[in-house]
Amino acid sequence: MPKIETLVLATHNAGKVAEMTPALLSIAECVVSAATLGLPEPAETGHDFLSNARIKAHAACRASNLPALADDSGLCVAALNGAPGLYSAWWAGPQKNFLAAMMQVNTLLGKNTNRRASFVATLVLMWPDGREVVAEGRVDGDVVWPPRGAGGHGYDPLFVPEGDTRTFAEMTVTEKSQYSHRARALKALVDQLS
Ligand code: IMP
Repeated sequence: MPKIETLVLATHNAGKVAEMTPALLSIAECVVSAATLGLPEPAETGHDFLSNARIKAHAACRASNLPALADDSGLCVAALNGAPGLYSAWWAGPQKNFLAAMMQVNTLLGKNTNRRASFVATLVLMWPDGREVVAEGRVDGDVVWPPRGAGGHGYDPLFVPEGDTRTFAEMTVTEKSQYSHRARALKALVDQLS
């Protein structure tokens, strides 16, 4: 497939833009975020990651008339029946207070020794003619307390991936990409396109 000329990254999350742009330059000449274009953020009213990713991709694609890629992702904690999951962003509230969201996870876990968790990501790449490609990625690991590290975004300071002892927030973007759900989903997407 020929390279996409301009690809809209349908997110206002600067952390996602930093993580996704390098891999996307293998399928697109130029990557521009929905935030940079001043596109509105649609309400995420879907009942799963795929429907929310589709809502975001569709909104950005329609507003820009360009191919758009959206990610919907979240932290799923086993002992909390998969919460916060689909509601990972919502738990941080309108102020995007992820320290409060991480404290909520820790409080709900209490003394439970089961700290297993995973990050999951679903990507939807949509073209203005309605074509779409879907890809998924996942990484398993543990949540730790207290949070560690100053890098990353969202719940990164809380999560240690299997195979490492550092939280995602203690890694560089490149190091995190060796494990991350989003990097795995991106690889699956790029593989489908090439
Ligand atoms: P979305 O923007 O609706 O997909 O919300 C996903 C939310 O899940 C983010 O706002 C974060 O709270 C959380 N999340 C997803 N991926 C990551 C990650 O790689 N690190 C930390 N938090 C993440």
